[in-house]
Amino acid sequence: MKDQILFLFNHLLFVLVMVFIYQFWLDRKERTFEQKRMMHIIFSTICVIFCMSFTVTLTDEFIVDLRQIPMLIAALYGGVYAAIPLAIITVGYRFIIGGAGIVGAVSMGISIIIISLIFSKRYLTWSIRKKVIWSMLLALYASSLVLTVYIVLSAGIELLTNGLPEKNIIYIFGVFIIFHVAGTGIATYAFEKINSFINMKQRIIQTEKIELISHLAASISHEVRNPLTVSRGFMQLLLEDSLKDKKNEYASIAINELDRAERIITDYLTFAKPIEERQEIFDVRQECLHVIEVIRPLANMNAVEVTTHLTEAYTEGSRQSFQQCLLNITKNGIEAIEDGGALHIELLANNKHITLLVRDTGKGMTEEQMKRLGEPYFTTKGAKGTGLGMMVSYGIIHSMNGSIKVTSELGKGTCFEITLPRKNENEQE
Ligand code: ADP
Ligand code: MG
Repeated sequence: MKDQILFLFNHLLFVLVMVFIYQFWLDRKERTFEQKRMMHIIFSTICVIFCMSFTVTLTDEFIVDLRQIPMLIAALYGGVYAAIPLAIITVGYRFIIGGAGIVGAVSMGISIIIISLIFSKRYLTWSIRKKVIWSMLLALYASSLVLTVYIVLSAGIELLTNGLPEKNIIYIFGVFIIFHVAGTGIATYAFEKINSFINMKQRIIQTEKIELISHLAASISHEVRNPLTVSRGFMQLLLEDSLKDKKNEYASIAINELDRAERIITDYLTFAKPIEERQEIFDVRQECLHVIEVIRPLANMNAVEVTTHLTEAYTEGSRQSFQQCLLNITKNGIEAIEDGGALHIELLANNKHITLLVRDTGKGMTEEQMKRLGEPYFTTKGAKGTGLGMMVSYGIIHSMNGSIKVTSELGKGTCFEITLPRKNENEQE
């Protein structure tokens, strides 16, 4: 019996190796759904043929293999288009090698197709845990099916004539079922885990790209500033030379606009600069005003009225990080407002603490969304969102020994309450 168990382990190992190879293939470049399905068919066919070629003899008549595992996985992940060719291949191969297993193979083939029809669409949306549990349940079903077919076909007659089977056979059936159920669970888990690692890698690459772009933005805005300054200079000359009123007016408008462009670029430049982690004591009110200046164009574009009530109050931390955090939160507020609304920023202080309230009249959040806030890559904005803003903001506030509280009502709006320790203007630690 030991040898047989070892053989079954070999089957499992083969399936796992195939899972690895498949995932590495997936990792090499972007693959379309059709390509993936094709690979599901190819890989599981290889597994199935391997399993069927090296069958394990558990008793004289009970010759088994673990082909149900790759078949189930292919059916669940590849859907009915993977299940049908696979069913045909197994039955065909079974037919070529011959033997009594053909009824089992056919019933298994049909089951796999039915399973894929029922499950494959829903399956892909489930969490890893649910996937593992369900694949194990289905493996329990598939292995029991094979056993039933076996008992009815061959052992059944013997059972009728010779009475109850010896203890050994129960043990063997147990091994058979356990191998299938546990094996499928392990294979599914491996499949999912490797997949999620690969996805994570791709997301990190994306984040790095964003960072690169923001660094580029810094240098680009620097470059744009030079021609702006030059144009402004000539405008100035024009203004001095010209005598006609109209031209005068145009030139001064142009100068104002150039100044505005210059201001916007300066503001963005501070955000795009790599964050320096210098700790300092700074005026929160000043930073709020600065951030409001920066988001004003976005607010105007979305018909959002920004109102403030700010008191002067100092805290300690990285000024730039704080700006970034506030920018994230106010930007989210504006983005949550669909057709016009208000964003109110309020800064209060007592002896020990500063409280900053950012309140919007946007669409609000559900309980579920609030719970997930700050989770990396959680976004409801599709491709437009990064889902990193809140994560970064929480990190920044925590690093300043502060806290963020969120209250939100669906359809009414959201309020972010940031609490920070208050410092004296001249305090040094
Ligand atoms: P992103 O803005 O890129 O989506 P964030 O981390 O900044 O990422 O925000 C995550 C999600 O939290 C948003 O997609 C949105 O669903 C929700 N959210 C954040 N702030 C608000 C808000 N003020 N009102 C409604 N939903 C919000
Ligand atoms: Mg955001």
